[in-house]
Amino acid sequence: MMLEKSDSLNLPLCQECGGRCCQGSPGIWVDPERFFALFFSGQRLTLEQLRERLPALGLVLWEKTGVPIPAPRSLASGCAFLTADGCRFSVAERPCQCLALIPNLETLEHQQGCLCLVPEEFSRDVARQRWQNYWQTV
Ligand code: SF4
Ligand code: SF4
Repeated sequence: MMLEKSDSLNLPLCQECGGRCCQGSPGIWVDPERFFALFFSGQRLTLEQLRERLPALGLVLWEKTGVPIPAPRSLASGCAFLTADGCRFSVAERPCQCLALIPNLETLEHQQGCLCLVPEEFSRDVARQRWQNYWQTV
């Protein structure tokens, strides 16, 4: 899963938009290995260990699908990591879905909402499957 690509970052389209994607639901880390490499030096944590350590990072577990998946905390205004200057995460740390989102001009042609596309390999279903596999091995 390539996430180094940053072609879609800082596009005039996204600058004009101002991050409507971030004002909705935050992106999630689809790839458990990448998540633990970024935040825990590659250490594999159990669910209970992760639950204890996430609040200090400003992160939460999404459990609605039945499989816990880490994500940035949400506020009424959207992702808690969104500031007037953009995302508080470095590009390298950002959730997989945030990096993979493909900007779509149609988003700006509507008054609200995000019509930008998450590629299938970064979908919530794929994330659910990958985290389910991960939790079964720790
Ligand atoms: S909603 Fe789409 S156009 Fe707007 S910042 Fe996000 S990816 Fe870019
Ligand atoms: S983590 Fe950053 S890029 Fe992703 S939704 Fe939050 S503010 Fe936006």
